[in-house]
Amino acid sequence: MTRTVTLWDKQFTIYLTHEQIQSRVQEIGQMINKDYEDRCPLFVAVLNGSFMFASDLLQHLCINCEISFVKLSSYQGTESTGSVQSLIGLEEDLQDRHVIVLEDIVDSGQTLTDLLPQFRKQSTASVRVASLIQKPEALEHNVTVNYLGFTIPNDFVVGYGLDYDGLGRNLRDIYKVAEA
Ligand code: 5GP
Ligand code: MG
Repeated sequence: MTRTVTLWDKQFTIYLTHEQIQSRVQEIGQMINKDYEDRCPLFVAVLNGSFMFASDLLQHLCINCEISFVKLSSYQGTESTGSVQSLIGLEEDLQDRHVIVLEDIVDSGQTLTDLLPQFRKQSTASVRVASLIQKPEALEHNVTVNYLGFTIPNDFVVGYGLDYDGLGRNLRDIYKVAEA
């Protein structure tokens, strides 16, 4: 495991190891196996950041389920722009489906505030959220994460799908930005 990485102009230090992430993702998988038995949930993974979480989580599921990927972006550099773009890529009929939205990280909650009504208006049976990470101190909207991997302070993190201006998504551990 590398203790520090440099991406563009910033240094990052190790924060959550691959092993910590894997064991937590497995626990979330077990909870979902129990809660969604016989419900054939439809996972909707929000790209790009959630691709590793989605891939690892689904490998722990032994119930029937489906997955679809959507794209939507609200973030540039290390500060949220606050403007949410539109949802692309959802082709499934959501009527009467149990939807589980997969997010990499919930920061202000703006993305989910924008996204969740777009699912709920389609007569879904239920909509829940699974997020690998949440930063409770940054939350500005009333959103609930039903399955949460880790709660972290208000630091900028990269790795395991999360990027800093495009770099770092490939890292198997999660790193936080080092103090300048
Ligand atoms: P929100 O809409 O909740 O403010 O932000 C959600 C999105 O912002 C996340 O899906 C993610 O793309 C981005 N984001 C928020 N915090 C971080 C962070 O610490 N690191 C990275 N790489 N992206 C973040
Ligand atoms: Mg995201």
